[in-house]
Amino acid sequence: MKVLVTGGCGYIGSHTTVELLKEGYEVVIVDNLINSKRDVLDKIKKITNKSVTFYEIDLCDKEKLRDVFLKEEISAVIHFAGLKAVGESVEIPIRYYKNNLVSTLNLLECMQEFNVKKLVFSSSATVYGNPKTLPIKEDFPLSTTNPYGTTKLMIEEILKDLYHSDPTFDITILRYFNPIGADKSGLLGEDPNGIPNNLMPYILKVATGKLPVLNIFGDDYNTVDGTGVRDYIHVLDLAVGHVLSLKNQKTGLKIYNLGTGRGTSVLELVKKFESVNNIKVNYQITKRREGDIDACYASIDKAHEELGFTPRYTIEDMCLDSYNFIKNNN
Ligand code: NAD
Ligand code: UDP
Repeated sequence: MKVLVTGGCGYIGSHTTVELLKEGYEVVIVDNLINSKRDVLDKIKKITNKSVTFYEIDLCDKEKLRDVFLKEEISAVIHFAGLKAVGESVEIPIRYYKNNLVSTLNLLECMQEFNVKKLVFSSSATVYGNPKTLPIKEDFPLSTTNPYGTTKLMIEEILKDLYHSDPTFDITILRYFNPIGADKSGLLGEDPNGIPNNLMPYILKVATGKLPVLNIFGDDYNTVDGTGVRDYIHVLDLAVGHVLSLKNQKTGLKIYNLGTGRGTSVLELVKKFESVNNIKVNYQITKRREGDIDACYASIDKAHEELGFTPRYTIEDMCLDSYNFIKNNN
């Protein structure tokens, strides 16, 4: 079975590609490398001993994308491609709407034309806004606070409308919580350019001496120690969640949270990182970051029951594997 992976050179897409290859799928990657590097392809080959077919294409270029569907016999699509930086999306919203929406619309048109009806889409816990209660279930109310989140919500709506108009589509929307960690080989992982927005990439910059100090955004939240609580999930578990979604016998339009169901505070994560890696992470408490919520963690009962999804990795594994990757790529 041949799977088209859009954004397959990126952080989650590359790990999922490895899992797909290990499970015997053929993989075609389309990526314009706007936020990734071509050498990821060699690393995937090193890990799996298998090759993928790669097209360096912008999904906003419909004709080039159409050529891929003409050439390859695609059976299913996993759609990761998109811009994902929350802060940047506030500064350049039109770019975010254009990239994330036009690419998805082009993809869906190609899928319709070539009768490819199976799709797994990368959504995000950000679509839950500020939840009233925890853990978060899939049927909680949806709202967003930034253009990035709004693109995810809009695409979810588009997919619901598409399914309504053509129930032969088989669509899985996966709402990721906070992916961290890296492949055990130390070859694949997340290492953003510049100053990272997200917590783990920032911790890694401080641990490797590239940035002097981690700013912890607020210690007066209504949480165990006052710092923000999130549901961190190992990217290897997330990758498995995608393969389970492809294998799922249940058809229709399905929505699943992918997290661990457990919350970890910023301070807890920093302390864990320090102890498992035996390294000091300089930090200071600063003021809250605008738009942040106290706590967010998933109910993963639905993914467990319907997909058989059970995360295997602990916070310790996530801290070890993230640091292992960054040490190898410094
Ligand atoms: P990433 O930036 O590492 O990967 C995205 C890939 O898509 C990159 O390789 C980029 O070059 C490519 N891309 C972007 N626009 C493209 C276009 N128009 N045409 C072709 N390729 C394009 O991001 P990631 O962390 O791997 O995230 C994958 C998906 O999961 C994204 O849709 C993201 O919004 C979503 N998501 C990520 C997180 C997270 O914390 N990492 C959380 C929730 C949801
Ligand atoms: N955070 C922090 N310092 C940073 C980055 C993040 O204290 O440099 C905190 C943030 O306030 C939140 C948690 O870490 O409580 C996770 O933030 P991240 O941006 O990684 O994920 P998100 O907020 O999108 O869930």
